[in-house]
Amino acid sequence: MSKVLLISTGGTITMVRDRVSDALVPADIETFKAFIPELFASNIQVDIEAFSPLLDSSDVNPDCWVRMAQMVYDRYDDYDGFVILHGTDTMSYSASALSFMLEDLGKPVVFTGSQLPVGVLRSDAKENLLTAIEMAAAKDEDGNAIVPEVTIYFEDKLFRANRTTKRNAEHFSAFNSYNYPPLAKAGVHITYQPHLVHYCDLKAPLKLHTQFDCNVAVLKLFPGIRQPVVHALLRTRGLKGVVLETFGAGNAPTDHWLFKELKTAVDKGIIIVNKTQCNTGSVEMGLYAVSLNLMKAGVLSGYDITTEALLTKMMLVFGENPNDTDKARELLGRDFCGEMTID
Ligand code: ASP
Repeated sequence: MSKVLLISTGGTITMVRDRVSDALVPADIETFKAFIPELFASNIQVDIEAFSPLLDSSDVNPDCWVRMAQMVYDRYDDYDGFVILHGTDTMSYSASALSFMLEDLGKPVVFTGSQLPVGVLRSDAKENLLTAIEMAAAKDEDGNAIVPEVTIYFEDKLFRANRTTKRNAEHFSAFNSYNYPPLAKAGVHITYQPHLVHYCDLKAPLKLHTQFDCNVAVLKLFPGIRQPVVHALLRTRGLKGVVLETFGAGNAPTDHWLFKELKTAVDKGIIIVNKTQCNTGSVEMGLYAVSLNLMKAGVLSGYDITTEALLTKMMLVFGENPNDTDKARELLGRDFCGEMTID
């Protein structure tokens, strides 16, 4: 019998309507279990551990990522796979973070949640949860996990976690992976795509990284952006890294003041990474003249990475390599576990 550990952190999937405020609030784990008797009626043994209190994912922070990753790490040898129940709002951040924290992961860690609470008639909770459990337990003929990655399962697709973005606040298809195909699709049968899976060195032991440094920021460019705004952000005390959200293939206004602000920040040791505002496609600095200044200022390419993956990767790289800007620059130019395509 396969064994899966279900870690519940909260989110809509675990919520009920509060009688007083009428707002959705996380229910306790016993109420949740009562809604899904199927959990304990399959040929997969499911054990449950839950955060107390359960959280709306707007309240999930790096300390919570450490708790989740630590639970996986501590129970790693006892289970074939892990499912993490999580609110959808920040699921892509948490799941991206765990993909970097759990180095040389050889077992599935599947995040899922739902758009409607578990007790609601048309809820997507059961389907998402039960399929995620099946995927977390799935093995090939040799007994190896089919998708030993951190992933997100939602609606009918399994995505590499660090490629995902929440794209819809309403539809059941809440997530997309714009720059990488799904690793599996669920219909009557589940179809896996093993050639798309990132396999680590299976002989290497799992390593856990837990140090985060949150001195990072996102700077989204827009036509008409003013120097004082950029200046104030880049002069933030303690700032170590900036996700620079640019136009199209990684382009920016050519105003000299912007070049000077970016160059001064880079010269001070702040690492700035170019991430396109487009969902699909990659940064290609040098393709247009309007990106040459960014290259001259020492801005790094983020290629086709998501903002969620880039931010969490930066936080971990800075946390694990304090006071070593050269190492951090080198690591941020590297693909860790399939989060970006370097051409
Ligand atoms: N606010 C909820 C959360 O992220 C939304 C959801 O789970 O879908 O916790």
